Amino acid sequence: MALARVVAIANHKGGVGKTTTAINLAAGLVEHKRRVLVIDLDPQECLSSSVGIETPEAGRSIAEVLLGQCSLTDVIVEAGDIDIAPAGLDLAEAEPRLHAEPGGEVALREALTSSIRRRYDFIIIDAPPSLGLLVIEALTAARELLIPVQLEWLALRRLGAILRTVEKVKHRLNTKLAISGIVPVMYDARLLHAREVLDAIRDELPDVHIFEPIPRSTRFSESPIAGRSILKYATDSPGAEAYRALARKVDG
Ligand code: ADP
Ligand code: MG
Repeated sequence: MALARVVAIANHKGGVGKTTTAINLAAGLVEHKRRVLVIDLDPQECLSSSVGIETPEAGRSIAEVLLGQCSLTDVIVEAGDIDIAPAGLDLAEAEPRLHAEPGGEVALREALTSSIRRRYDFIIIDAPPSLGLLVIEALTAARELLIPVQLEWLALRRLGAILRTVEKVKHRLNTKLAISGIVPVMYDARLLHAREVLDAIRDELPDVHIFEPIPRSTRFSESPIAGRSILKYATDSPGAEAYRALARKVDG
């Protein structure tokens, strides 16, 4: 049986649509009957709460998995038709402990055993906003990387940092990692500067695939409060359609 494709969603900047992309890409894949696991690697646990999962009880978060205290199957919970491995605040405490372990950065990759990968078509990893160890865990465990980018000049300048991290991870830890593409998010086609930034990204990174932009919409901040993906919360909205299109592309 085929093994899940492991896709990381990362950008060291916070508030750029990583979690939104992880959830809604997952929801789009589920609409195609794909079996999807989303791993929340953010100690702020926004992803878990945005799909209606409360802070896990002690011993039931991805932190324990990374520290080798339980297996991934022990922490997986169902949120509708998506499986989630939730993060807890204990993830922040786990990070320095993992740092101190030899080879700590491969803990997540180790946890994605072939028996887990046989159970899913996609494993999506929502990385935290930093360039710390947890992002390295995500990039080391994944084969594919999506980078959500806000269409602002500052975001473009900061893109270099994540690209340099990716190069180091590829060189030292995970030669199989490949950038699937940049997902431009919060796109407002009426703004000249958003279009200019999009063009600048294309010019600066001619070898990187740029997915169709995800439009800016207030629906995106409403749907997590409702504990649902935008595909379910505002099913016919342009934002939902944009993530469906992304899921089709990623699904290939
Ligand atoms: P990150 O995980 O990178 O920190 P989030 O996905 O949590 O970012 O998004 C940050 C904020 O922006 C959230 O309030 C989210 O609802 C909002 N948001 C995300 N994508 C869009 C979009 N396309 N249009 C408008 N708001 C968005
Ligand atoms: Mg997030």
